[in-house]
Amino acid sequence: MTPAIDVSGLNKSFAGKHVVQDLSIQVAEGRICGFLGPNGSGKTTTLRMLCGLLTPDSGAGSCLGYDIIRQAGEIKLRTGYMTQRFSLYEDLTLRENLQFMARVHGLDHRDRRVSETLERLGLSARRDQLAGSLSGGWKQRLALAAATLHEPRLLLLDEPTAGVDPKARRTFWDEIHALSAQGLTVLVSTHYMDEAERCHEIAYISYGRLIARGTAEEVVAGSNLITFRGEGPGIDRLAGEVARRPGVLTAAPFGAALHVSGTDRAALEAAIAPWRCDAYRWTEVAPTLEDVFIQLMSGAQDNYQ
Ligand code: ADP
Repeated sequence: MTPAIDVSGLNKSFAGKHVVQDLSIQVAEGRICGFLGPNGSGKTTTLRMLCGLLTPDSGAGSCLGYDIIRQAGEIKLRTGYMTQRFSLYEDLTLRENLQFMARVHGLDHRDRRVSETLERLGLSARRDQLAGSLSGGWKQRLALAAATLHEPRLLLLDEPTAGVDPKARRTFWDEIHALSAQGLTVLVSTHYMDEAERCHEIAYISYGRLIARGTAEEVVAGSNLITFRGEGPGIDRLAGEVARRPGVLTAAPFGAALHVSGTDRAALEAAIAPWRCDAYRWTEVAPTLEDVFIQLMSGAQDNYQ
């Protein structure tokens, strides 16, 4: 089966700054792929190249079987793109916004499609409310309605849940999984670890380069990270001191506990040795995705400098 996204060697520079470097990625149809990485690492630029809004300087590939350079128009017709900022009309009602979008897309059966989309996303009761009067979670749901109104086969979501409360985020993810179960492919950028874990697979990009790829379990296993969890009174406040020890890549408080990670077991053991005492209890735990991302972030920074 042809992957829904299949691109290789993508490059993009802005004013001499190389923001996407030799990026290759494949995503199979119907999969939800989380796109992670620090701010400014090139996620938005990549999403925009995939849907034909930006032309790569070099590289090639296809989305939904269409060439990203020569058939960008075909890709746009079949792709839903949700940007970070709410980009609908605040002084139109929900129904009016969707009707307008339906006209922009040149859709047939507009009234039916709009009603069905409002219904599917639980927006029917608010159909006559002005979009500007919605809270963040509802606005984001309306934006998802607008992005899926034309029944796209690919959804590109750029930090869709930034600033949205946990309940609304959960509803949003239930909807994303329902769409994926119908065969829609989703590439979604996010900074939230719980959202990364909800994806079928993840891609981690740093300074324009893809540096980790696979399921969450594969990315954790591939990191070769060893993590010790320390517990005891006030141990979380030792993070700064422990982090400075040789062999420690990250030391981060997790609630009242402290997670200390590194890739060299002997060095890590030596690093925590001064705090192996009656007051503190240390156990080796499986690293979390967050431990791995913090390590990836610090590693990439070192390479960059
Ligand atoms: P991310 O989505 O991971 O935060 P972006 O793709 O938005 O990253 O940005 C990557 C880098 O490219 C940033 O340094 C950003 O300032 C720069 N950039 C993005 N778009 C433009 C543009 N149109 N002109 C100049 N620089 C840009």
